[in-house]
Amino acid sequence: MTPWFDTTKVFIDGAWRAPASGDTLPLEDPSTGQEIGRIARGTGADIDAAVAAAERALTGDWGRLTAAERGRLLMHMGQLVQDHADALAEMEATDVGKPLTQARSDVTALARYCEFYGGAADKVMGETIPFNAGFTVYTLREPHGVTGHIVPWNYPMQIIGRSIGAALAMGNACVLKPAEEACLTALAIADIARQAGLPAGALNVVPGLGAEAGAALTAHKGIHHVSFTGSVPTGRLVQAAAAQNCVPVTLELGGKSPQVVFADADLDAALPFLVNAGIQNAGQTCSAASRILVERPIYDEVCTRMAAAYRALKVGPAMEDLNVGPLISARQKEIVEGFLAKAPKGSILAEGEVTNIASGGHYVRPTLIGGLTPDHVLAQQEIFGPVQVVLPFEGEDEATEIANGTDYGLVASVWTRDGARQMRMARRLRAGQVFINNYGAAGGVELPFGGTRLSGHGREKGFEALYAFSSLKTVAAHHG
Ligand code: NDP
Repeated sequence: MTPWFDTTKVFIDGAWRAPASGDTLPLEDPSTGQEIGRIARGTGADIDAAVAAAERALTGDWGRLTAAERGRLLMHMGQLVQDHADALAEMEATDVGKPLTQARSDVTALARYCEFYGGAADKVMGETIPFNAGFTVYTLREPHGVTGHIVPWNYPMQIIGRSIGAALAMGNACVLKPAEEACLTALAIADIARQAGLPAGALNVVPGLGAEAGAALTAHKGIHHVSFTGSVPTGRLVQAAAAQNCVPVTLELGGKSPQVVFADADLDAALPFLVNAGIQNAGQTCSAASRILVERPIYDEVCTRMAAAYRALKVGPAMEDLNVGPLISARQKEIVEGFLAKAPKGSILAEGEVTNIASGGHYVRPTLIGGLTPDHVLAQQEIFGPVQVVLPFEGEDEATEIANGTDYGLVASVWTRDGARQMRMARRLRAGQVFINNYGAAGGVELPFGGTRLSGHGREKGFEALYAFSSLKTVAAHHG
């Protein structure tokens, strides 16, 4: 896997350049733990240059484009993403450690974001507001200006697609800081934007350390909106930094999402969703369904069937395209193993099989855990590894209490054939998205996404993101 661009550069003002520090950081393949290249160590000086380039873009060629022209450029990017699909999937699989098939889905999602937001760019409209005699009042949706995007390592392509797709569609100019642990596809997207003819400065990409380039970006006075996806502690830092400049922030901070399975559910349909939503991307998914709540009459059956599915799981290098790949880093493996060490004796119902691994890779066995109380640390905290906890409940009230009984509120699902119960539970579950008889709706780019409480605030994806990435202006004309 050799990227077609120089990975040691930053992308600013439509061109590749060496970072101001002249320094690079190692790039590791999580499947082997081996260094496979170097990336630029962007710092505050590069962020300054990127913000300045973005400001120039807003008053230059980028700012002069019509909404339809911006949309056409995004759609062109979507086509180029598809043209580079194999290279992008291989890059993401190698860099993140996700099985190739899952990386291919992420390419498809990125292309869909470009298409969706390309198509939507000229369909965001203001309103006219009935008002006093002699007035005409209307609203305009305008870009914020320069938007900052901090992206994690778990789904770089998807998160970049949803974030810069909406921001660019609305006419913002973007400065993107990808995670230093996985930034190859962020750089590839920069080059795809260049190939598509995006005007200089509309998209700038500065890899580097969170505490350096990331902190410089979120504190920068020239940034007018910050979009962040990552951990709760870093989200707090980002919000505090943005507060100094009084700019809006979108925080997407993960969760401890439940799937609630009632005794009347279609178990054959549910089972693949119950397991996949826990082990996809080795469980390093903000919307992972890490808690499976099961009504008592079918608790044993669900545990037995999920355990059988777990025993059949194969874990190995990303390019072997098994069910589960490695975790992103030695540090993440340590975090997950630390949680697993807290599993009480006898609570592990089943584990997957780690096969054919290179010695330095960051592998853990997918682990299914039962017999815990809902307040156990493993049932409360985000583990961010392939670990699911099965919890029994009796009736809708207890299901709701357990489902809503964490500090998070990102996603939830309910499995039942009872239509009235579906409606009741959809209202009662505290989450930004509720799925009925499915989980995740195949990631639908059209569907607004985001959380409550420690899962964050603000919505990305769908049309909602276009509103979030724009500033509403009210114009009141007095004409008598
Ligand atoms: P972080 O939240 O620290 O990283 C997310 C992004 O923020 C990365 O681009 C990171 O850069 C950047 N960043 C780090 N520090 C700062 C800062 N001070 N100012 C601005 N940006 C910053 O997550 P980790 O990678 O450390 O993962 C730790 C845990 O976070 C995981 O175990 C998981 O629980 C959770 N997580 C949740 C995600 C989600 O999708 N909701 C995604 C990733 C992690 P860099 O990595 O280069 O330092």
